Formats: sequence, C-alpha cells, structure tokens
Amino acid sequence: MGLRLIFLGPQGSGKGTQASRLARLMGVPHISTGAMLREAVADGTELGRKADAIMQAGDLVPDDLVVAMVGERLSQPDAKCGYLLDGFPRNVAQAEALDAVLEDPLDAVVRLDVPHEELMKRMLLRAEAEGRADDTEEGISRRLEIYWEETAPLSGYYANTGVAVRVVDGFGGIDEVFARVALSMAVE
Ligand code: AMP
Repeated sequence: MGLRLIFLGPQGSGKGTQASRLARLMGVPHISTGAMLREAVADGTELGRKADAIMQAGDLVPDDLVVAMVGERLSQPDAKCGYLLDGFPRNVAQAEALDAVLEDPLDAVVRLDVPHEELMKRMLLRAEAEGRADDTEEGISRRLEIYWEETAPLSGYYANTGVAVRVVDGFGGIDEVFARVALSMAVE
C-alpha cells in the first residue's frame, strides 16, 4: 500500500523536521522543494540560477519551474509507492497542476499550526544559528505573509476535493509534536 501525503505549515513551524521523520516512519521519500531548490542553487544549475535571487527575497519561484521539478521527481521509481511532499504545493495553481499529473489520489494533508509570534521567534533563532541567505527579518516576514495569503487556503482546497486534512498543534518540543503527527496518521 502506498501513502501519498502533503505536509503543510509555515516556515518555522518545524515542518521540515517533522516531515522528514514522518516520511521515515511511513517508509516513503521525503520530497522537499525548498531543499531541492537550494541544491540547484548550490550546484549552479540553470534552475538554480533562475531561483537564487527570488529565494533570497523570500518570494515564490515561478509555478512552471517548480511544477516541472516536482513532476520529474514524482516520476522516479522510489515515488511510485508513495511520497511525502514538503513545501509543495504552495498555492492553488500548484495544487491544480499536481492534481492534473497525479495518477493516484492523495491520501491526506497534514497541517502543522504554530502561533505567529512563536514562528518569528524560532526563525530569527534559526537565522542566527544557520546563516541561511533568505533568513533576514524581511525575508521571514515576506515568507509568512505569502504563506497566509497563498498557501493557507490549500486546507480549504483539499477539504473541498475530498482529501482529509489532519490539523496538528505544532507548539511544543520536537518529540512531543512528532507524537501528535504520528497519532494524526492513525486517526480516521
Ligand atoms: P522552504 O524550504 O520550503 O521554506 O523553501 C525555501 C524557498 O524556496 C521559498 O521561500 C521559495 O522561494 C522557494 N520554494 C520552495 N518551494 C516552493 C514552491 N512550491 N513554489 C515556489 N517556490 C518555492
């Protein structure tokens, strides 16, 4: 049995960490578009060169580029029996493009909720610790704004198309939150 999941959550919600753990638990590849794009930038590929400045500004890379990248990744053999998408789709246009290429329906959407002040706090700490190029205060605010405007409506989009949306409280320690994430998978 495959498991096709989408993981939603704002930057700083712990989404990447939790998504990676859940993918391991479920035995499916963790497909993070942010990580793939950062790799393309580091490798200096054509996609990376197009994406670099956009990512530093905290804006979204154009849909056609990201959709092509994800389509190619999903066609690889390890994604045939399931996957966990992290950071994609980011807006309704990407969700529609995904629906158009998927052969098998999605099983669930997991949405990690964390209060705004906590997100800002965590991301500023991460900026200090990791020195990521897009982790300036401006970039952080911009990305959160985009999340609320463009990505948050995906909960409604999926609920309307009949995909279960599992809402998980992301406030707390990593293990505590992961216990909730894992439990949400077991609940119908
Ligand atoms: P993330 O690691 O998911 O926070 O992504 C880091 C950056 O990569 C974002 O701020 C965007 O610039 C870009 N990015 C990642 N995923 C997408 C996507 N699905 N659509 C457009 N841009 C994306």
